Amino acid sequence: MTRGAAVDKLAARLQAASEFMREHDDFLVVSHVQPDGDAVSSTLAVGWMLAQLGKTYTMINEGRLPAKFSYLPNYERVLSFTEQAPSRLFRHVISVDCADYARIGKVSELFAEGAKLLNIDHHPTNDGFGACQLIVPDASATVEILYDLAVQMGFALDTDFGRCIYTGLLTDTGGFRYASVGPKVMQIAADLLKLGVNGHELAEAALEKMTVPQMKLLQKGLSTLRFSDDRKIAWVHISLEDMAAIQAESEDMDGLVNYPRNVEGVLVGLMFKQRGPLSWKISLRSNTVNVAEIAQKFGGGGHIRAAGCTVEGELQEVTERVVREVGSMLT
Ligand code: 5GP
Ligand code: MN
Repeated sequence: MTRGAAVDKLAARLQAASEFMREHDDFLVVSHVQPDGDAVSSTLAVGWMLAQLGKTYTMINEGRLPAKFSYLPNYERVLSFTEQAPSRLFRHVISVDCADYARIGKVSELFAEGAKLLNIDHHPTNDGFGACQLIVPDASATVEILYDLAVQMGFALDTDFGRCIYTGLLTDTGGFRYASVGPKVMQIAADLLKLGVNGHELAEAALEKMTVPQMKLLQKGLSTLRFSDDRKIAWVHISLEDMAAIQAESEDMDGLVNYPRNVEGVLVGLMFKQRGPLSWKISLRSNTVNVAEIAQKFGGGGHIRAAGCTVEGELQEVTERVVREVGSMLT
């Protein structure tokens, strides 16, 4: 596709998404299980846009949102399905930052039969579920797409919306450091700062601050650091027992996988997080290798440089299988 055709296609997709929002009402806004900064921010940004249109909407996630994002406007309005599931079904759904239907988790139980779903996402592995799709793999974060959508829809942007967009950009680009950051991301960030968003304060809250359990998990996780013989693969693990001993939440593990990846000479960093007696959620990170391809071999997905999957088995067996697969990608 030529660049001009790609731009036209994006314009048409933005238009279709905008019509979806304008034409319907009583929306359910959902994001992925174990939501990250982009998922939380995108949920709230869509809520903000629907409020501008005078629509009614319910924002929900399968679990509770990470407490670190409680500074975001309307954070407390996002329901936890596990604790506060609404007792009725919804006919219009907007899903943000979900690469596939399963990532929505149990929240999908609230979709009415034949419900219409708008799928807004930036994962290249998105499988295109839903009646209407706004999938932009070039976008650094789902919030980047939502910023374009809000501009296209002609909303008067304010700092409530701006804080959501800026937070999603910060968390999905590692503080504007990843390869996904180009002039466009910096331009949006600059526009948001001009709008009055306090970038320093948001970076402090979303990236710098660590909870005590997060620090203890880092300590524990680093003590498990192992390398492949050629030192090109490094990994850490956190067991359920560790989580219980530290009284940590899942969100406290955020960022830990970057340590094995950042070791000099390492091409792929892995983190094994225990989810059940024989179930391990694996985070894959690289600066050079397509880890989404590896994650897909285990039924997961994600981005080229950051992906995830779940593998069943004992830790040692799971580690060996995954490390062997990564190793075969490196040769
Ligand atoms: P994380 O390692 O932070 O959980 O996830 C890294 C990236 O991979 C995220 O963009 C996330 O959306 C994606 N990802 C993580 N786990 C899965 C999974 O099980 N399936 C799919 N499709 N994507 C995943
Ligand atoms: Mn994202």
